[in-house]
Parts: sequence; structure tokens; C-alpha cells
Amino acid sequence: MKKDYYEVLEISKTATVAEIKKAYRQQALKYHPDKNPGDKEAEEKFKLAAEAYEVLSDENKRAQYDRFGHAAFEGGAGGGFSSMEDIFAHFGDIFGGHFSSFGFGSSGRSSGQTYIKGENLRIRVKVSLEDIVKGTEKKVKVRRKVKAEGVTYKTCPTCHGQGQVLRQAQTILGMIQTSTTCGHCGGTGQVLDHRPEGSDHNGMKTVEETITVPIPAGVMNGIQLKIDGKGNEAPSKNSIAGDLLVLIEEQEHEKLKREGDNLHYDLYISMPEAALGANKEIETVTGKVRIKIEAGTQSGKILRLRDKGVPSLRGGVGDLIIHVNVWTPKELSKEQKAFFEQMKDDTHFTPNPSKEDKSFFEKVKEMFS
Ligand SMILES: [Zn+2]
Repeated sequence: MKKDYYEVLEISKTATVAEIKKAYRQQALKYHPDKNPGDKEAEEKFKLAAEAYEVLSDENKRAQYDRFGHAAFEGGAGGGFSSMEDIFAHFGDIFGGHFSSFGFGSSGRSSGQTYIKGENLRIRVKVSLEDIVKGTEKKVKVRRKVKAEGVTYKTCPTCHGQGQVLRQAQTILGMIQTSTTCGHCGGTGQVLDHRPEGSDHNGMKTVEETITVPIPAGVMNGIQLKIDGKGNEAPSKNSIAGDLLVLIEEQEHEKLKREGDNLHYDLYISMPEAALGANKEIETVTGKVRIKIEAGTQSGKILRLRDKGVPSLRGGVGDLIIHVNVWTPKELSKEQKAFFEQMKDDTHFTPNPSKEDKSFFEKVKEMFS
């Protein structure tokens, strides 16, 4: 079981953005690899803190997390870093000047190189209620920028691969040396060497790629799934690709209305069916369901079919709630009119609600309490 993000950062559920940031800084400083060389446990804690911060510092992700827990980001979505590089690429800013950049990458330099992260790409995916109930995969076509084949990079001549340049200035306090990000290579220490034909000025080209997006059962409108590394690549040797962010657009169902994890269905029965009882078949997203209408059923009756709703991202399944409506004929033949005239004063036709025949509003109240 994965540890709760709030516990990871040792904050309360109501922590403000500033508190979250402060808590993350503390954890990051405590478990930073520079301070704990070779300590795998510290590294894990460092990664987990970064993951917690990534989710809780984002209003949208935090809301999803509060509602669904870790399940909100299953299936390739949301938090989680594959590597330390990933963390540094994300949070370079929060460490400020406290650390020299952590040495990663094959060059082994730890002097101030930065990894560049490619841009995230965003798409919308329409999902039907059937897809949401069962969970599915969607194949999407994405046009993304990748490094052209054959592109090569060389060590930046300005900073000699350091990513930083030193400036010396004579001041009244004496010679002052400062280091700033190299403007030539953007801090990566590498610049374009060979640009293959057909690539743009950065040695990049645009490709159309089909990407399979796993849609976990129970997603809802507005949820954003994240596919790591399927955004644009960045034009640098020291880079990682951005992410593909998939916004879920829930399509309305013709007959079933979703409310959280529950589904609502309006069932219309005739007056004879209400009076005599009937067997009805209802088309749900997981197949047909037979229900029995008892003789003497009132309009407004609510039937609840357990676990026939939408699976929750937190586990469990919602219910299918059937609202029974008795259809009153709008037109009557002469004979039918005569029949109802006859029945008008019949005691069986006189409303006489008992305690069990709760009003519609009482039933609704009860359902949501
Ligand atoms: Zn440079």
C-alpha cells in the first residue's frame, strides 16, 4: 500500500499551498542525494516526497487525489517519476541555490548542467458511459516533436559543457565571481552539431504517433490522465520528453444519467402494469437487467440495484437507481373514458397513502441521507 501523500509531507489535509511547498523543501533537503550518497532508502523517500509534492501542489491533481486517493493516477496517469532526472527537471526551481545540480546523465558531470524537459502536449478524449463503466483503452493520434534521426550534439564551446559560465567583475569589494546559466546552450552543456536534412533549425522533426491511452474504469469528466514521456522531446542531448496530458470528456448517455458512482434510470410503466404488476427489462451499460414491478406500484417508487452503477476509482461500485413513473394516458377512447368515469368514486381508486407509500420527496431525501 502506497503511503498517503499528506503523511509523506507530514502535513494536514487542509495544508495551504505555501505549507505544502515548505514541507516539500524540508523533505527534499533532508533526503537529497547529495546529503545521503548511496542511501537507497533516502533516495526512495526523496522520490516519494517529489511525487507527493507534484500532486498536492497542483490544485486539479490535489482535488482528484482527495477524492480518489492513489487510484486517481493509476493507469499511467498523474504522479510518479521514473527517475531522478525527472524530479530535477520538474523541480529545479524549488531547490533554488541550495544545491549544485545533482550529477546525472552519462557525462557524469555535476557542475551545473540542467536537463531540459520537452513541452507537454494536451489532447481531449471522448469516452462513453460504457467505456467508463468497463474501463478501456483509446488509441489517439498525436503529432509530437522528436529529435530527427541522425542529429548529433557537441559540447558547448561557450561553457565547455559546464552549462554555467563564470563572470568576473572588478568591484569596489574586489574581484567578484558569479556563475550564470550559459546562454548559448541554455544550461544543457550541449549544442547542435549535425542537423539532418528535413529537420528544423533545432534538429527536430514532427511525427505522427499512435499512442494507447489506458482509461481506468470510473473516470469522470474533467479528469486529466498523464502519459509520461509522450509529449514533445526537447532539442538537446540532455533532455527528457514532456508528457501527454489527456483530458477526459464524458459523453452523455441516452438513457442513463450519472451522478457520482450511481446511475439513474427513468422507467415508465403503464397504468395497467402499475395496477397488475409486470416484469420489465432494462438496458444497462453492462447488459440487460430484469426487474419485477409489484402489483399496486406507485409512481415515484425508487428501486435500487446494488453494484449496477459505475465502478469507483477508490474501489467499490455504485448503484443503479430506477425511478418508476406511471404513465397516465393523454387520450382515451369513449369506452376507456366510461371505464374511468365508473371507477372515479370506487374506493380502490381513491388515493389512500399508507406510511410505506412515502412521497417522492421523502424518498429522495432518504436516498441521499
Ligand atoms: Zn553552454
